[in-house]
Amino acid sequence: MAKYEAVIGLEVHAQLQTVTKVFCSCSTHFGDPPNSNTCPVCLGLPGALPVLNRRALELAMRAALALNCKIQPRSRFARKNYFYPDLPKGYQISMYELPLATDGWLEIAFDGNRKRIGITRVHMEDDAGKSLHEGFADSDRWTYIDFNRCGVPLIEIVSEPDLRTPAEAYAYLTTLKQVLEYTEVSDCNMEEGSLRCDANVSVRLRGASKFGTKAEVKNLNSFRYLSHALEYEIERQIGIVESGGTMTQETRLWNVAAGRTEPMRSKEFAHDYRYFPEPDLLPVMISEAMIAEVRAAMPELPAARAERFLRDYKITPYDASVLTAARALADYFEATVNAGAQPKSAANWISVELLRRLNDAGKEIAASPVSPASLAELLQQVDAGQITAATGKKVFAGMFDLGKTATEIIVAEGLAQISDATLIEKIVRDVVAKNPENVAKYRSGNEGVFKFFVGQVMRETRGQANPQLVNEILKRLLA
Ligand SMILES: [Zn+2]
Repeated sequence: MAKYEAVIGLEVHAQLQTVTKVFCSCSTHFGDPPNSNTCPVCLGLPGALPVLNRRALELAMRAALALNCKIQPRSRFARKNYFYPDLPKGYQISMYELPLATDGWLEIAFDGNRKRIGITRVHMEDDAGKSLHEGFADSDRWTYIDFNRCGVPLIEIVSEPDLRTPAEAYAYLTTLKQVLEYTEVSDCNMEEGSLRCDANVSVRLRGASKFGTKAEVKNLNSFRYLSHALEYEIERQIGIVESGGTMTQETRLWNVAAGRTEPMRSKEFAHDYRYFPEPDLLPVMISEAMIAEVRAAMPELPAARAERFLRDYKITPYDASVLTAARALADYFEATVNAGAQPKSAANWISVELLRRLNDAGKEIAASPVSPASLAELLQQVDAGQITAATGKKVFAGMFDLGKTATEIIVAEGLAQISDATLIEKIVRDVVAKNPENVAKYRSGNEGVFKFFVGQVMRETRGQANPQLVNEILKRLLA
């Protein structure tokens, strides 16, 4: 690795968050019975005519603007011809010579560095169907096809070959996902195939200006696969070059079980697809006014939201960056504040207690057993001194594990803070009476022993005594 460097470019496909498909009005809903969301258009029946979904175009433009691209005034769909059972039209409708947007960038942060990664293009296309090779009694003999995905709107985001390490590629995909989620362009659900990634990888001697021959690694559908596949592929290519071999341009697949990339087919070239303009769709003409409209409707981006959190809520920059890492988490924080929690307490409890418990339980924020309103109720009681912070943590654990509200747990377990001065004084008197030596030490100037008395009182009250009252009464009685 000291001698070589890798050159990596990523092609990311993201499903646009529309209700209907890109060229027909069939539903895009995931998980419906196979082949229930189909019509003559997405099945490619003769004579059927596609019509572009305006919402899909708006979302694609939104992604392009968020990625700092230039939106082209005129773009055009083309037919990308190939034959495969999951592609009933015999071609995919995609933008080729005239893509929707070009020349953008995305800034990534990794290891304390920032780096701008070029975005070559963003274009729209339709998805193919899905071949089902498993799960049926006769799966050993037959492959089943589900056309529900056919015609689902996608954007393809092609990066410049600006990435140099698997860690940079990982940071790029993480940041891109964050942007697409924040802008509501895509839900980026990798399990449901809403975000897919292919990588172009080559290696060259460090300092060389010419690129080596690249391999395209397909279907890196999780962050883990992306890192592992890139590491494997870089080593494989260095091995070939070092042993005097020649790289061939090819498409490879990441074999998860075997932990290696495997040849899939020789890399196809553009001419293999016999691209030609899609005759059934008009060119896409985009006016400055439409760009302004899409820009005006753009949801707040992650960096802007972090700045607003600092300004409006006066939380620490660290908390702001943790809380805005995912949109759902930032939403959770704001909902907690809107439900009445103090921003600083909310930030602290969410970034420490809640995230730790979610992480331990392997849950996403969306599946949190504690709702923002419920957390706000707890924090109000802690901040008002009705329960101590230590008790608050115990109550929070119960809320998380049992799904009960703070008040239910506090009442059921008798955890409310003891603020009855007479009761506390009685306990303090007992403690003082039982420890004459320490009283003597305190009175002779050893103030360190004060902590011992606080500890004793807290033990007697199971940590529920109001700490301020305990301090006051102890000082008075020890004096
Ligand atoms: Zn349809």
